[in-house]
Amino acid sequence: MLEVRDLDAFYGDSHILFKLRLSVGNGQRVALLGRNGAGKSTLLKSVMNAGPRVRGALRFDGQDIGALPVHRRTQLGLSLVPEDRRIFTHLTVAENIAIARYGASAQRPAVPVAEIIERFPMLVALQQRYGGQLSGGQQQLLAVARAMAANPSLLLLDEPTEGLAPIIVEEMAHDVVRTCTERNTALLLCEQNIWFARRCTQYVYVIDTGRIVFEGDWAA
Ligand code: ATP
Ligand code: MG
Repeated sequence: MLEVRDLDAFYGDSHILFKLRLSVGNGQRVALLGRNGAGKSTLLKSVMNAGPRVRGALRFDGQDIGALPVHRRTQLGLSLVPEDRRIFTHLTVAENIAIARYGASAQRPAVPVAEIIERFPMLVALQQRYGGQLSGGQQQLLAVARAMAANPSLLLLDEPTEGLAPIIVEEMAHDVVRTCTERNTALLLCEQNIWFARRCTQYVYVIDTGRIVFEGDWAA
């Protein structure tokens, strides 16, 4: 589904990623681990064309997506929840989720708002609350739920558990695995919380100063 081959990424003159090779299969859930500054977010942004300048091959479902702008990648079924998750503060939780349907495609239609909310129990009581009236953790949960409402075929999550209470991390792991499994959504997850990464994914890459230094199954 996603194939990254010999990818170099740059911010201005800074060379950040070096000849990166990584694959995510159809419906496969993959973790990307590494120290702060290793290049994890840069990789997710490169896959989405949301920032870094890149060189190398990016293929999605066999198609070369290297030249496509963000919105075309979204239409193909890619969805990124970035580190600085942006929700609409002047829209309610339900409206924030409903807006995700614009990212959906004919092949993978949007998931009904009610179904998404039902899957993220913490959001049930918050449906009519404005985005700007949510706590940081609640906003984070909303950003993940909203990305799932677009029914992506590959979901890119950048540190979704940051700042969340342990019980909510557990709930989120359950919600993410369940939704990905039922909808055959592949996942590429950057995460510092090893428990969450292990619970949510089947395969792991470790990245260090812009290079892949390990890949394998969690059991390995
Ligand atoms: P963290 O775990 O802290 O989120 P990360 O692995 O996601 O780290 P990146 O955000 O990908 O790391 O950053 C990789 C490198 O690129 C770092 O050295 C960082 O300082 C640099 N970098 C990130 N964003 C920019 C930018 N907009 N301009 C220049 N350099 C940047
Ligand atoms: Mg990061």
